[in-house]
Formats: sequence, structure tokens, C-alpha cells
Amino acid sequence: MPQPCACCGNPFEPRPQIPDQTYCSAPDCQRARKRQWQRAKLQSDPDYLANQRAAQQAWSQRNQDYWRNYRNDQPDYALRNREQQHRRDANRARINLAKMDVCALPTGLYRIKLNPAFPRRSADSWIVEIAPVCVTCPCKMDVSREDLIDNPATRS
Ligand SMILES: [Zn+2]
Repeated sequence: MPQPCACCGNPFEPRPQIPDQTYCSAPDCQRARKRQWQRAKLQSDPDYLANQRAAQQAWSQRNQDYWRNYRNDQPDYALRNREQQHRRDANRARINLAKMDVCALPTGLYRIKLNPAFPRRSADSWIVEIAPVCVTCPCKMDVSREDLIDNPATRS
């Protein structure tokens, strides 16, 4: 049964060995899965957090001069690094802006229905379609029948 990837959203077939697979096999999605796993692990496992911190500190202690020397030896590297970071920041800002555009649904009536391409897989999430309900066509009958609600004959 295909299901949407938790990262890119494309439908994929979970591998038989991993029935709970939620990320597709695209390298970017697998990287996202590992980052997500590590973030969750750092939050839920104090030992893991302490270990990671200790390992990082130990490495910094051993390599105190590593990055300073590297930057001094390779001025091009520092410059290129700054430029790349700048570009990444600009990119991220653009992506966030695009996401906001998508999310800016105008206020109004919408119909939400399960998308048949994505059968419900877990107890607490659905993939749904959100479609605007137009006021002039018969589909408005589905949402708010104010004429019925206000009609004394249908009141109980
Ligand atoms: Zn994916």
C-alpha cells in the first residue's frame, strides 16, 4: 500500500522488512530521517545527549587549533564558507516565504475529505484534500444549511 513520504510527500511503497517506514528512499529524505531521529534521541535520551556533548568537547579539546589553522592556511576557504552560508540563509528565507504563500488560505468555506490515494495508516493522522466550497453550486448543501437550521419544522 503506497503511503506519502514524511519528508517529500511523494507516495512510496514501504519495504516489506520495514512495514513502519515513513520516509522514502531518496537520499535527501533519508538524511532528513536521520536528522529527525537524532533530534528526537537528543530530546528523549539524556545519556545520549551527554555522550554527544562529551564527544564534541573531547574532539574540540584535541583539535583546538584545527579550524583556526585551517582558516589561516586557507583564506579562500573562509571566504567561500562565508559566501556559501550567506547563500544558504537567503535560500532558507525564500523557502519560508514560499511556504507561507501556500498556507495563506483565505477565510471561507472549505470541504475536507480523505484523499483516497492515501488510505489512513495511523491513528492520529490523515492526508486530506481541502477544496473551497462555492456558494452558488449545490455542493453548499453539504456545509451549512442555514435555511434548514432556521426552519422551525426541522428544529427538534
Ligand atoms: Zn521522500
